[in-house]
Amino acid sequence: MADKHGTDGAVLVVGGGISGLTTALEAAEVGHDVFLIEKSPTFGGRVAQLNEYFPKMCPPSCGLEINFRRIRDNRKIRTYTMATVKSISGTPGNYEVTLTIAPRYVNSNCAACGLCAEACPDEIDNPFNFGMDKCKAIYLPHEMAFPRRYVINKEGLSEAGAKAIKKACKYEAVDLDMEEETVTLHVASIVWATGWEPYQATNMENLSFGKSDAIITNMMMERLAAPNGPTSGKIVIPNSDKEITSVGFVQCAGSRDENHLEYCSHICCMATFKQMTYVREQYPDAKIYVFYIDLRTPGKYEKFREARMADANAEFIKGKVAEIIPEDDGVVLIAENTLTMEKLSQKVDLVVLATGMQPALQVQGEVPAGLTMDSNGFVISDEIQGMFAAGCAKKASDVVTTTQNSTAAALKAIQVSRRARING
Ligand SMILES: Cc1cc2nc3c(=O)[nH]c(=O)nc-3n(C[C@H](O)[C@H](O)[C@H](O)COP(=O)(O)OP(=O)(O)OC[C@H]3O[C@@H](n4cnc5c(N)ncnc54)[C@H](O)[C@@H]3O)c2cc1C
Repeated sequence: MADKHGTDGAVLVVGGGISGLTTALEAAEVGHDVFLIEKSPTFGGRVAQLNEYFPKMCPPSCGLEINFRRIRDNRKIRTYTMATVKSISGTPGNYEVTLTIAPRYVNSNCAACGLCAEACPDEIDNPFNFGMDKCKAIYLPHEMAFPRRYVINKEGLSEAGAKAIKKACKYEAVDLDMEEETVTLHVASIVWATGWEPYQATNMENLSFGKSDAIITNMMMERLAAPNGPTSGKIVIPNSDKEITSVGFVQCAGSRDENHLEYCSHICCMATFKQMTYVREQYPDAKIYVFYIDLRTPGKYEKFREARMADANAEFIKGKVAEIIPEDDGVVLIAENTLTMEKLSQKVDLVVLATGMQPALQVQGEVPAGLTMDSNGFVISDEIQGMFAAGCAKKASDVVTTTQNSTAAALKAIQVSRRARING
């Protein structure tokens, strides 16, 4: 099935995280038609997975829910979930973009009542919680999900499961015959707000990720500490109820390393300082070790760092972790303290790998026509092409920086659109 949409001067925003939401709202609120498309079943991106965000330490609902409401209320914005760009043709001011819409297998009748999930016998690894718990094969991606509509993982659904969920749904919303759709858009400019993926921790063999439940990534720590996470917010060793007495944070896990990510992701030091707070709130006496190359918390974040470094039960070791050895009753970190030249072997209950942010488009591997990227996969804005980058698609950064550069991208996209209207 193919649909055609578009008006003169419309802006396409690809990616519905905090950057895409911001770009779409900025462009629409000055009167431009906007198409906002998102690959996953729900908007919000990685911010939705955070427990709290620095520096104010508020829950993600703070920023996201307001934006969701503004998007819902703005008739200039048309949204698509489970949508990706298939092809782009034309020229700046006059692009034809073909989207592929993957089947959700749940139609718009869904009232998110949850009866289907209750009836469903099949479970899958919960993608929102990085597989640290299970969810049903028909699920609401998370409690803040927008749109508030269930989605089916068809591979995880048995025949009995399919029958059970169809029977349980009072609204005839389950549609297992749904097929991939194609939609064609006419737009003047395109903003790429496709964000980032956590760098794959298994790529660093010496850090033993996957060999022990007691070795997790910083994004897993966000989910562990979150009240809506796999342990209802209790920081324990995943897949057990084991509480912790010590934790080791491994900074630059794969970052600033030409064999992995050669750049600094800018936020990992701040994320660790934030996560020290999570630990301290639950374990006032736990010992915290932070292994680092440099601590980077520029500008206004210096105060945040200073407050965490005043923790008497926290030790900061300047030295890159060379090896992590899982043992039956803990994990051993091997490093060299570069200030004292001492070789260290520190045993802890839990290790958090501060993995960096890799541009999502680079991980996905398909570069759409006309898009310019740097050698690390970050998108370079190109005014002549009418294509701009916003948020972490442009550079690894915190939420404040991403929203600022999203506003800038919206302005640039509007300029191309205006020129198209005047010339067209
Ligand atoms: C451990 C950790 C903790 C952090 N904590 C904080 C914090 O406390 N405070 C703070 O300010 N920052 C924090 N950050 C940084 C923050 O997560 C980013 O600044 C933010 O996610 C950037 O938003 P974004 O919209 O650019 O990208 P994303 O959040 O990645 O959103 C991008 C969206 O685009 C979609 N997408 C991807 N590819 C496509 C495609 N091809 N087509 C369509 N859609 C696509 C994705 O599904 C996603 O929804 C943290 C980062 C880490 C790693």
